[in-house]
Amino acid sequence: MNLRLDSFEQQIDPVILKRGLDYFKKGCVVDMADLGNGEYEFIVEGTDEYDVRLRVLDGEVTEYDCNCPYDMGSVCKHVVAALFYLQKDLFDGSRMTAAGKGASTVERRMSEYQQANLLLDKLPHEELKKFLHDAYSVNRKLRSAFVAKYISYLEPASKKIYDMEVKALLNAHSDKSGFIGYYEASGLGRDISDMLTDATACKAKGDKLKALYIAEAVAEGMVQAIDYADDSTGSIGSCIYSALDLVASLAGADADGFLHTEMFEWLLDNIERKTMYGWDWHWLLVNAAIDAAETDSEVERIKSAIGEAKPKGDGWDMEYCHVTAATSRLITKTKGEKAALEYMENNLENSDFRKQLIEKALDTNDYSKAERLANDGVEKDNVRSPGLADDWRRYLLKIYKAENRTEDVIRLARYFLLVGNRIDGRWEDSYKLLKSQIPGSRWREYVDGLMASISEDNHNSTAYERIEFLCVMDERWEELLGVLAQNKSFSRVERVEKYLAKEYAAELASMYEELILDYLEYNVGRAHYQYVCRYIRRIIKLGCRPKATALVDRLKKTYSKRRALLEELDMV
Ligand SMILES: [Zn+2]
Repeated sequence: MNLRLDSFEQQIDPVILKRGLDYFKKGCVVDMADLGNGEYEFIVEGTDEYDVRLRVLDGEVTEYDCNCPYDMGSVCKHVVAALFYLQKDLFDGSRMTAAGKGASTVERRMSEYQQANLLLDKLPHEELKKFLHDAYSVNRKLRSAFVAKYISYLEPASKKIYDMEVKALLNAHSDKSGFIGYYEASGLGRDISDMLTDATACKAKGDKLKALYIAEAVAEGMVQAIDYADDSTGSIGSCIYSALDLVASLAGADADGFLHTEMFEWLLDNIERKTMYGWDWHWLLVNAAIDAAETDSEVERIKSAIGEAKPKGDGWDMEYCHVTAATSRLITKTKGEKAALEYMENNLENSDFRKQLIEKALDTNDYSKAERLANDGVEKDNVRSPGLADDWRRYLLKIYKAENRTEDVIRLARYFLLVGNRIDGRWEDSYKLLKSQIPGSRWREYVDGLMASISEDNHNSTAYERIEFLCVMDERWEELLGVLAQNKSFSRVERVEKYLAKEYAAELASMYEELILDYLEYNVGRAHYQYVCRYIRRIIKLGCRPKATALVDRLKKTYSKRRALLEELDMV
């Protein structure tokens, strides 16, 4: 939300506004710096000292930020105090100039920030050196940041200096107990991203070894840090992904002997020690190692590091899926695609394999193989993971359509309408498919049969929705009204209002009335009253104002002691 500098008072929560104004009046804004380009920095004193930043463009405050821990809304009292300060400063200043007093007579106080900038230019090197030395002697964070920034001046390229740089940044961003809090985690993420930007630039310039060292140091350091950090924003995690992406891209690039050995050893060391085990990152390491492998002994080493996994057969077996996916990647690389396909055939507990094999069979028009795989899948997953079983059924439907097997097409389309989930238009597709297969003269009777089957299925929790769907598709309004009356709820009535309002306005209004009377028996509180009043308004919209008026009167009498309800009813 942009704030108008001349009228922000109307845009801010009154409580926060009042507190901010108090701060401003008490003189809590102790410093302001004009940083140029419409950016301002303030120091606001409260329970602690906070930095507020504002960016102003054509009288609009386009950005505002405060480093206090307040998170109840976007604007805190410190920002408000700064806004009042800036408003006064800018408008008073311009008024003085407009009045012709001349800018030269207005001696504006120089901000601390400006003073500091001036001093940087003026002070001799020795003096600055002494100041910095004294400052970091007592300030550990400053010292860490300083060393991190300039460590590469001390040592030639080796992974160790980047390890130290990462460690220094971790120190600079962690508290006394070594924990990295919510805000510090973002700050750390930004600093580490800078390192990775450097690394990417090194890779582009051809210095792949340095790029590798930086990426390795970042990945290792951040994986260790994440256990001691509040990474709700995901900034540490995304640094790890970026670092591993970079390593993987170097594995693909033609690595020379030394680079190859460095990378392969690092990857295998981390895989074998399981430093990232339990995270996706472990498998990114494995994939990068497979892509980088050159010799038989390297392949063997990867093989034994991956190990073997037996399916536990208890649903989502991630470990088994990861291990088999990696093994298939390794086989593709060493023995070719045919061998990999054979491996996949023998490990169909990994559903991704089944998918890939079915799609491959469909691509080559091998329908009988695709059908066998899909049918097996339905049998295997029907109870354990019904969603997956429906995926296999969709493949079957595709096959039946391609082979013009009318009976089978009808059977499956019927299944989706009776039992299948309503995701991404599946009911609509199945409906259209059925309608295209059943002769027009028999259609009505056929839908009657469908509806009867749905009604008879006592276990179907979405039976009403299915019947509503069929009625709407076939425009059977009278039947829809009947089934709705038996199963009514506010949302159901509202959902079909657009179809029934023209012919059955009075009936719909009566349903709302019944629902409202029922609802108020069991629900007390203003939010509930507002909820029912919404439906009283719908009764009026349906053209039944007299009914609405009578209902309001009746409710006022019945609930004469519910004051909030009376107030809400008066506003209908
Ligand atoms: Zn604040």
